[in-house]
Parts: sequence; C-alpha cells; structure tokens
Amino acid sequence: EAKQQHLRVLAYRAGDDEHHLRQVRLMGLLRHALELQEFRLVFQPKLHLVTRRVAHVEALLRWSTPSYGEVSPDEFIPLAERSGLIRAITRHVIDASLCQARPWIEAGLVEGVAVNLSPMDLVDPGLPAHVGDLLRAHGVAPASLVLEVTEHTVMRDVEAARDTMHALRAQGVRLSIDDFGTGHSSLAQLRGLPVDEIKIDKSFVADLGAGSGDSVIVRSAIEIGHNMGLTVVAEGVETPENLAILEALGCDMVQGYLFAPPLAPAALVEWCARRRSR
Ligand code: C2E
Ligand code: CA
Ligand code: CA
Ligand code: CA
Repeated sequence: EAKQQHLRVLAYRAGDDEHHLRQVRLMGLLRHALELQEFRLVFQPKLHLVTRRVAHVEALLRWSTPSYGEVSPDEFIPLAERSGLIRAITRHVIDASLCQARPWIEAGLVEGVAVNLSPMDLVDPGLPAHVGDLLRAHGVAPASLVLEVTEHTVMRDVEAARDTMHALRAQGVRLSIDDFGTGHSSLAQLRGLPVDEIKIDKSFVADLGAGSGDSVIVRSAIEIGHNMGLTVVAEGVETPENLAILEALGCDMVQGYLFAPPLAPAALVEWCARRRSR
C-alpha cells in the first residue's frame, strides 16, 4: 500500500515536470513565433438569430510550431500573458484581422470583425491610440471592429479596465463582454462600463435543451442584456435544440459549430457565398 502510494507520488511529479518543461519550452518558442510567422488566424461567423445573416466574424488565433505541432490558444495565450508578449501579439492580431476583413466588409460579406483582448491589453495605456492608428491605416470604420474582453479580465482590475474601455470607445470601436456569466460581476459594475454586447458563455449554452432544459442563467443573461440595451450573443451553439431555446428566449446573435467552425479565410469566403446562394 505504502509502495503504491509512493509510486503514485513519483508518477505525479514526473507528470508535473513534463508539463513544466513543456511550458518553459513553449515560452521560449513563443518569443520567436511572430517573426517566424507561425501564427495564423481563423474566423468564425456570428449570425443574427432572426435573419440568420452574418453579423461579424470572430478572429481566433492559431499557432503551429515545428516541434510541438498545433498548440491551443487556451495553452499559449496564458503563456503570452505571463511573458508580456501578449501586447505585441494582440497588436498583430488586430492588424492582421483588419487587413483580412477589410475586403469582406467592403463586399458586404460581413458587418465587421471581432478580436479578443487579454487582461494585460486592458492595462496597456497605448492600446486605444494604436487601435485608432490601425483603423485609419486599413481604412476600416471603427464601428466595424468589436473588441471582446472576458468578464474575468474586467473584474481583475475594474478601474483600469474602465479607463481603457472608455478610451477604446472614444475611438469608436464596439466592446463586448465575453464568457458572460462566469465572472460574477455585479450589475452595478457592468453598468459603469461602455459595453455594446454580452456573449453568454458556451458552458451555459451547451445545457440548453439537454433534458432538463435548464435555462435560468441564459434567460436572465438575456433579460439583463436587453434591459441594459445590449446585443446578446450566445456562443457554443451546437444543436438545433440549443438554437430553438435561444430563439424562444429572444437572443440576438448566435455562434457555434451548428453554423460553422472557425474557418481559414478562403473557407470563410466560400461559406459566405454558399449561404447567400441558398
Ligand atoms: P473564446 O474567445 O471564448 O472563443 C470561443 C472558443 O470556443 C474558440 O476556441 C472556438 O473555436 C470555440 N467554439 C466555437 N464554437 C464552438 C462550439 O459550438 N462548441 C464549442 N465547444 N466550442 C466552440 P479557441 O479558438 O480554441 O480559443 C480558445 C480561447 O483562446 C478563446 O475563447 C480566447 O479566450 C482565446 N483566444 C483565441 N484567440 C485569441 C486571440 O487572438 N487573442 C486572445 N487574447 N485570446 C485568444
Ligand atoms: Ca471571444
Ligand atoms: Ca467566449
Ligand atoms: Ca472562453
């Protein structure tokens, strides 16, 4: 028994070490990922629920390394945060997203593009002016850019987040609260923020219609959003049952595998064209 226990402890440590080693190595690789052009963007459509027309596309970052293959953003974004690289990465993502989406916006394929921000971006005092510069450089209307910040990010430092969000809003961009419902923010805190949209976290959307049909959180999120005059988006919509309940509850926009996964640029354009010709 004691020996078993000892072996388990050893196994744990080996696992920890391996994990730690991977993190350290990835962190080192991440430093050169931008210059080596190892990043690429995929785009997932957000649709108006009633008309099923495409609203925005959300830019999602992908990293492919020679030694580790594809590394998930859930793994490398926190590393980029810790190392401070996230500021440069975010600026690259905004730049590349605007470059990529501009012709789509001009052709009327999409209304705009959404980009995710990290906690450190919200305490980057230079970001709002930089975003303004990028919009002018690409000739994209500010209202066509949505910046998504998670509820956790905002709650980490509400004061700083509020300042940056107001400065971003002053540039004319739209702001969205991502992963809504997971961050325990109060209504009072939300009210003080210049927000246009909330995105209900996919963990709540996944339960919709699955037997219990429990939708208390989703229902109240939609109510809160509408009472505050916000657009409400549901992410992670995977089934027709999910969609039917969101429709009944009056959700404004939907995003998820039921419609399209995140797509490479050429595939997104094809997807839009196919949808239009239906
Ligand atoms: P997120 O912003 O909440 O993005 C939604 C995630 O859900 C994406 O995962 C997307 O591929 C996935 N998803 C989309 N539809 C469905 C669905 O129907 N079901 C399920 N189960 N999942 C769905 P992804 O691309 O792996 O990104 C994970 C997270 O990494 C993102 O969560 C975001 O927090 C972060 N991230 C991705 N790209 C960037 C970036 O450019 N900058 C920053 N700061 N964070 C990023
Ligand atoms: Ca997002
Ligand atoms: Ca989300
Ligand atoms: Ca998330």
